[in-house]
Amino acid sequence: MPLARTTLALAFTSLGASALMAQQTKGKPEDTEVWSPVPRVVTPGRTNDAPPSDAIVLFNGGNLDQWVSVKDHGPAGWTVSDGVLTVNKATGNIETKRSFTDYQLHLEWRVPENVTGTGQARGNSGIFLASTGGGDAGYEIQIMDSYQNPTYVNGQAAAIYKQYTPLVNAMRKPGEWQTYDVVWTAPTFRDDGSIATPAYVTAFHNGVLVQNHVALKGETLYIGAPSYKKHGAAAIKLQAHGDPSPPISFRNIWVRDLSQ
Ligand code: MG
Repeated sequence: MPLARTTLALAFTSLGASALMAQQTKGKPEDTEVWSPVPRVVTPGRTNDAPPSDAIVLFNGGNLDQWVSVKDHGPAGWTVSDGVLTVNKATGNIETKRSFTDYQLHLEWRVPENVTGTGQARGNSGIFLASTGGGDAGYEIQIMDSYQNPTYVNGQAAAIYKQYTPLVNAMRKPGEWQTYDVVWTAPTFRDDGSIATPAYVTAFHNGVLVQNHVALKGETLYIGAPSYKKHGAAAIKLQAHGDPSPPISFRNIWVRDLSQ
């Protein structure tokens, strides 16, 4: 073998050896594979809006069996017609019979085409992700008409009320259905009532990310700085806002409990 070729062959051999050594240091591909526990199977709905197999359906167009009036815990007094739930402002807020800790929520809402008013007084409602008492106590994601309707931005649709402005305005026109998909991580508290870990919210409005794992500063308040007060598992509450504009509607509400 001519000298040049021998040198080349030696060089390749030494390259192969060092590559092998490097691989041995890193280990085998199998070393970093995880095979258990296997994620349980969930059958998705036919569309991404339809409840998957492990969802708790809170409203599917039929009745308000899953809900009560916040005022007296009697039957929820809102109107169900043509598969749609419409706010009855005279009877006040409603909330779920069940309590939840961490969950994924899907909800659809519609501001009526004939909505009136401006600013906060235009199709105002809201979802309290955990109801911590009567009235508006809890943590509200705002619902209102924010289609070409300016208001304070930390109070517009998809805001964590007076805490986090939505990343973008993904609002459809009045008369069209809107979707919210929310991941709620409940706050945790120490025995003395102080906050251990804050609540977190991730939310999509019409499929668009509007809140990205924001840490809440406490319950959402109309006046004053937010603060926490100790609570456990809590209902999900919908707001009957006192503004005089025609009431908004809901449909297709379901939740996946992430606490178990
Ligand atoms: Mg509201």
